[in-house]
Amino acid sequence: MSSRHGIRQLEAMKLYMLHQKTQTRDPDDLSEAVQGSRKWSLPNIKCPRCPLTAGPLRSYPIVDLSGLADRKPFESGWPVPLERFRELAEIVRPYIPAHLPIERSTHLGPLTGKVTRPPEDYATSFLFGTDLLREEAFVRLCERSGLRLQGVPAKVRCRKDPELRLVELQADALVNLVPEALPPQALPDGELRVCPLCGLNNIKEIQSDWIAIKRSSIPAQGDYFDLKEYPGFFMVTERLKEAMEEAGIRGVLFGEVLVTDE
Ligand SMILES: [Zn+2]
Repeated sequence: MSSRHGIRQLEAMKLYMLHQKTQTRDPDDLSEAVQGSRKWSLPNIKCPRCPLTAGPLRSYPIVDLSGLADRKPFESGWPVPLERFRELAEIVRPYIPAHLPIERSTHLGPLTGKVTRPPEDYATSFLFGTDLLREEAFVRLCERSGLRLQGVPAKVRCRKDPELRLVELQADALVNLVPEALPPQALPDGELRVCPLCGLNNIKEIQSDWIAIKRSSIPAQGDYFDLKEYPGFFMVTERLKEAMEEAGIRGVLFGEVLVTDE
């Protein structure tokens, strides 16, 4: 059980992965309704140990580099030598929340772009894949639940609905998976290895039903998490799931994630 306003009881903590509804012609399925990009990114790394690879990319919409005098090094994303990456990481460190890691190829800044396929009803839909909610739905969710969610206004325009305001959720923290729970397709080497120089790991692919989460990695604060080892698998606490259901948020399904003591 979790208490909505009190201290969370970690020993019984439940996490739910967000799954996109995929029925064809589902009016709630807005996964391709938004096209956008972000203004800045950390570059990829030319690591002396690892092949240059472009894996799944993480985004921190909450990071705003507009106050940085020289933003040029964060505009292309082109790979740089490790030493240069470390220099650039130090430059952006004050702009990135302390609990979020500074990793190669992380995209920074609010989503900027356009809504390409206006759906019939934005009112309560959760745009999975871009993690966007209509501002009114986000505000209602926060007010009803009392939860402190990190919402970043997206800079997206919609020709058919100029009043449209969307908010993107920023993960509160990254949680760790249990490598032993992964099948051989995910970890052909049989164990998780992380490059000490660039942070690249040897996970080949991930599917949501392979994921178990280390209980010790779930922070006491926060309700919206991404996966540390492989970005893009967003999870919510039980209390956020309940709050989303009560607020009538649609467009997603919730799948309970195994949480283990390792
Ligand atoms: Zn490396």
